[in-house]
Amino acid sequence: MPPAPAGTAEPPRDCDLCPRLHAFIADWRAREPTWFNAPVPTFVPAAGDATVRLLIVGLAPGLRGANRTGRPFTGDFAGDMLYRTLGRFGFARGAYQARPDDGIELTGAAITNAVRCVPPENKPVGAEIATCRGFLMPTIARFANLEAVLALGAIAHQSVVRALGRRVAAHPFRHGGRDTIGAVTLFSSYHCSRYNTNTGVLTEDMFVNVFNEITEYLQAATRQNGSPAGR
Ligand code: SF4
Repeated sequence: MPPAPAGTAEPPRDCDLCPRLHAFIADWRAREPTWFNAPVPTFVPAAGDATVRLLIVGLAPGLRGANRTGRPFTGDFAGDMLYRTLGRFGFARGAYQARPDDGIELTGAAITNAVRCVPPENKPVGAEIATCRGFLMPTIARFANLEAVLALGAIAHQSVVRALGRRVAAHPFRHGGRDTIGAVTLFSSYHCSRYNTNTGVLTEDMFVNVFNEITEYLQAATRQNGSPAGR
């Protein structure tokens, strides 16, 4: 597969760099013409990119979740825990209602996926992850005041590490992990998927603890640097 065009953070609606995913979406456009059925754009705060200090990176849109609604994690089972936790820690305001028009706003955080198109059975292949990294890299770069990245799951973690120009072997995934890579600190958590929460791999307390760490880190950075944007 060809790499994504350098420097473009948002893929075009008809991005066909991954033929399997392009065909999968085309099939769902025919089956469900009212769904979003396209690469899901990064969800950013209304206050602008300069306010983003935390970027959350998931795996890929869920078929009946973000692929249907067009907003990351929205309508996905995982979105319930994610948006609830974002609200609790002040990274989102408004009442999450699993709809893109629910009015929820992000504050200081943005949400994206390592793979922008819905993959069959939630499983992108390595080449698709690598190809879509061509959009992840400029997505990370677009936030001039970014201080922290939260990767949800091992695949997102590995793609972020590679997007930051490092070797995965030097930065292995672990839940609760924390790595400084260049100008950002990478936090990692098990994905807040239905499977992980139903099986107890990830509990709400574990997820909250990750956000406690991120919040403490950002507060310490603010104390050290003055205003968040004053880095
Ligand atoms: S996953 Fe990414 S690179 Fe692949 S077709 Fe979709 S937007 Fe393009």
